[in-house]
Amino acid sequence: MHIVLVDTSRVVLKMIAALLEPHGHTVTVFTNSTEALDFIETTASVRVLITSLEVRPLSGLELCWSARLLAESNRPLYVITMSSARSERNLAEALDSGADDFIEKPPSPEELHARLRAADRLTNMQSELIRLAQTDPLTGLLNRRAFLSRSQEAAERVGNHGKMSAVLLDIDNFKRINDEYGHDVGDATIQAVARELGTDGIVGRLGGEEFGVILPHRPGTDAEALAGRLRRGIEALRLRGGKAPIRITCSFGVSEWIEGDTVEGLVKRADIALYEAKATGRNRIVTAISDLMLNRAG
Ligand code: GH3
Ligand code: MG
Ligand code: MG
Repeated sequence: MHIVLVDTSRVVLKMIAALLEPHGHTVTVFTNSTEALDFIETTASVRVLITSLEVRPLSGLELCWSARLLAESNRPLYVITMSSARSERNLAEALDSGADDFIEKPPSPEELHARLRAADRLTNMQSELIRLAQTDPLTGLLNRRAFLSRSQEAAERVGNHGKMSAVLLDIDNFKRINDEYGHDVGDATIQAVARELGTDGIVGRLGGEEFGVILPHRPGTDAEALAGRLRRGIEALRLRGGKAPIRITCSFGVSEWIEGDTVEGLVKRADIALYEAKATGRNRIVTAISDLMLNRAG
């Protein structure tokens, strides 16, 4: 596991790192708690934080609390506090501040390794729960909520003046597939479209037979090109289920990030464009004209 270790003493850091590294752990040490927090924030592989209570400039308890907030429900993180003055009060305070565990300083190697085995079990379980909460079970794509929250994170990195674009697509006359061939064939059709979408960008299933792709840092022309490839690829699919192979098509709405935009605005404009593609014949791509569509999106 990747472990971040925080203590004011380089000697203590060295000693504990020497216990951990031979067991295959990657250890990053800090004497400054703010630097440790920044590192955890930007390094997704960190699974465990071990911090002394007596650290600066953030106290150990503040560091626990901040790390806990930062991990929220989005990533697994196990927090262990360490103090030479083990007292019930320290223990209670540490746990109340978001720590998962408390060890004495210096820790005995057996105890430390046992605690880390518990951390490994718990963070694996957390990872699995996070994955399940973000995934659509039928297609393995991101579900709507995860799709929007990833897009939101991407939008923050893109910033006000950056580039970003979106493609929304919806299977045409899908209800007919269900009605004619049954729900199982309908499900297999949704899965086939999901496979066509590939892994470029942020890809999600937004609802029944509707999907979205967000391309961070890429202009609307890239989204149009992607929609074009997908439209032709989906049209060329031949699905099993009936007497003859089943053919399907999708309609597409494309939009592009504009100054002062939000993910909701971007997706909304693509959705309106998609609606227009449906209204004007299906198996088509319509690009939202930013100003016009923005006005119409209200
Ligand atoms: P349009 O071209 O206007 O999009 O028409 P449509 O028939 O595709 O759209 P409509 O919204 O009328 O019907 C969508 C259908 O998709 C209705 C719903 O029963 C079905 N559906 C939604 N989720 C699933 C699913 O997970 N599996 C299957 N098999 N069907 C689903
Ligand atoms: Mg449809
Ligand atoms: Mg639909």
